[in-house]
Amino acid sequence: MPVLKTNDWLKDIAGNKALIIAGPCSAETEDQLIETAMGVKQAGAHILRAGIWKPRTRPGNFEGVGAIGLDWLKKAKEKTGLLTSVEVANPIHVQLAIENDVDILWIGARTSVNPFAIQEIADALKGVDKIVLVKNPVNPDLALWMGALERINKAGIDKLGAIHRGFSSFKKMKYRNEPLWQIPIDLKTQFPELPLINDPSHITGNREMIFDVSQTAIQLKFDGLMIETHRDPENAWSDAAQQITPDTLKNIVNRLEIPKDKAFDPALLKSLADLREEIDELDKELVEIIYQREEKTREIAGLKWKENISIYQKERWLDILNKARKNSLNKGIDRKFIEQLYRILHQESLKIQHQVFNEENKKKR
Ligand code: PEP
Ligand code: MN
Repeated sequence: MPVLKTNDWLKDIAGNKALIIAGPCSAETEDQLIETAMGVKQAGAHILRAGIWKPRTRPGNFEGVGAIGLDWLKKAKEKTGLLTSVEVANPIHVQLAIENDVDILWIGARTSVNPFAIQEIADALKGVDKIVLVKNPVNPDLALWMGALERINKAGIDKLGAIHRGFSSFKKMKYRNEPLWQIPIDLKTQFPELPLINDPSHITGNREMIFDVSQTAIQLKFDGLMIETHRDPENAWSDAAQQITPDTLKNIVNRLEIPKDKAFDPALLKSLADLREEIDELDKELVEIIYQREEKTREIAGLKWKENISIYQKERWLDILNKARKNSLNKGIDRKFIEQLYRILHQESLKIQHQVFNEENKKKR
């Protein structure tokens, strides 16, 4: 199992509470940054965020105020006592951020996809004592995310954290970036000591959904949140639809329900254990049913091979899907979930049938 040498920096800043990083998507003016900083401080944030070099998808949009923003961050820190954080995408950004006493550097999603870029940043960080947060890469690739963290850690950075900001997808969906919660959960399993922070702003792309995603993250035992906050969100120069006011931030932070780690009531513990036992039994049956289904698939493949008919039969697949939808209709099971599940089953069934065809063809030769 891979290990990261990490340090408990988060507890020093946030104690046992969720770490809150807040501030505008982009620093726009000195006044905007300082007023927003005072607002997020008041709302309970620990760290001020502001992008000054903005990775825009297409050129021609506002690309950040550049290094002058570092001055404003310094002033915001003097005024509020907040720690400051900025996105760095190359060694020059790293050097400027260090020279200007930025406390926390984060690496954006478009940078963490590229091991060359990450290695250059890691080299620039050698011998530096800063907190570094690595956002997930835009594509849902856990190994790439882990690799970026490992490169930074190998450069000697032990105050490390990961930010989950969701993944690009072509799917039509309510999110700007699909959360795919299993990926950050897998990261936490691989690196249990690594602080994990959720960024509901870039996941939702929509200020109306920030609370729900934040609450989900906290339920899943994330250690903190990075929330884009602006004194005047509607008129923000970037990511206007997803930013919230400091007042809304305060409201969200106060409404978050922090789950307890363990239940203590003995009756409740007993019921929990009983239900878990039943689930274990059902899981056994589920695997048995899948096994039996695969056996039938193999038999079917044998028949198809004999007559040399094609493995994929569109009408049959649509028929299976429709029956599955009907079977689940009155049970309150999410239709999308059933469809997804059947897509996976069908994909596996095609794979098995190809295997059977290959085996039979080999025997014939
Ligand atoms: C940001 O935090 O403003 C940002 C650009 O985010 P991401 O790298 O997640 O797109
Ligand atoms: Mn943004």
